[in-house]
Formats: sequence, C-alpha cells, structure tokens
Amino acid sequence: MDETRVIISTPFYTAYQSPNNRVAIVPSSEITATDAELSRHPSTAARQEDTEVNHLEVADEEAKADWKKKLGVLVAKNLIKAAVETDGKTWTGNVARSTLLSFPRNYELFVKKKGDRHVPRKDYYLYGSQHVRTFRSPLEFVPHLIWLFQGQPLKTDGDPDCSCKYCNSGATQSEIHKRLLPHAGPSRVRMPVLPDGPKKSKGAAISVPYKDYTKLNKPS
Ligand SMILES: [Zn+2]
Repeated sequence: MDETRVIISTPFYTAYQSPNNRVAIVPSSEITATDAELSRHPSTAARQEDTEVNHLEVADEEAKADWKKKLGVLVAKNLIKAAVETDGKTWTGNVARSTLLSFPRNYELFVKKKGDRHVPRKDYYLYGSQHVRTFRSPLEFVPHLIWLFQGQPLKTDGDPDCSCKYCNSGATQSEIHKRLLPHAGPSRVRMPVLPDGPKKSKGAAISVPYKDYTKLNKPS
C-alpha cells in the first residue's frame, strides 16, 4: 500500500494515514462539527504606540502549526487510535508524527503581544468556542477538541459533557494532564514525543466522573 488512505471517517473528523504512517486529522467543515463562531473572535485593533505594544493579532503560521502538531499527537493517542480499533481495524499509525491539518471551523489562534515593540512578550490564545472564551495551550484545548470529535454530547442538564477544565469546573488542569499524559508531571510539562502507550480500554479515551451537585443543598 503506497498511498495515503482514510483510516477512519466520522461526521466530525476524518483521519488519513500516509505510507510512512504519518496520521493527518481533518476536522469536518460542517457547522454541526464545531461549537465555534466568528463572533467570538477578539478585536485585533491596535493603537499606534511608540515603544510599547499591547494588542492581539492572528498568530503566524509557525505558531499555528506548532499547536496543530501537538493537538494531533494528543488526539491520535487519546481518541483516534481507540476509534480505529473500535472500528475493528489494526492501528499502525505513528502517534508521534500525527498532526491536525486545521483547527475546527471558526476557531483561530491569536497572539497577544505586550511590552517592547521589538521584543514583545507573546501569549497565545485559541478563540472561537461558544462555551469557552479562550484556550491557552494545546493541552488545555485537547479535551474540548475530543469532545467536538465525539459530537458534542451534553449532560442531562444540557451542559457540555466535556472534560476540559472550563466546561468541567471540577477538573484541574493538572488532573487533565495526568489523564492525557500519564507519565508526565503535574503541570508545565513540555510536550513530549509520545510513544504508543499501553493498550487502553476501547471506546471513551477520557472519562470524568459525573459530579453530583444536587447534594450541595441537602438539608442537614
Ligand atoms: Zn470543554
């Protein structure tokens, strides 16, 4: 087999594998495959300033590619591999060489430049989600991306059944890191090149116990 082939296709994404086992994950461009809207993007208007800058602009392609690469590795490891296996196929993709080809529809990466105009501090933010104002790193976004790729399931109360730290306020980012990167430290981890982990149970790659808020107001 010497051609790029589809290894899995759902209404929410398609994953392709090339002959060298690279995996490219393409979010569906359908409006039903995203929770993002352009109206959620920030203003990028910049005041004219002499020496100091403080504004947002669309991030450069290099920064976007870096995020998409990191997201691709984490999604391949935590969702695509299990989805392919659940589909009855053998996973032969190279997790470490997986990438996302584009952000989900209406998501965009912005950079905030602050400080000296020649060497400003740069902080990156992913905008677009209707549920979450910004994601500040690929690790913050990946649980929410997996939720999008699972078709945006809702809890019984109508809230997103998503395990990201914003939708699921009970989860701390360090718990999420542990779940996604079981061998890494709690936080501020560098994105490693992840080997294929031990075989996990099929189906949902990430599960968060449902928090029972109904007990909070229980009379004593
Ligand atoms: Zn979320």
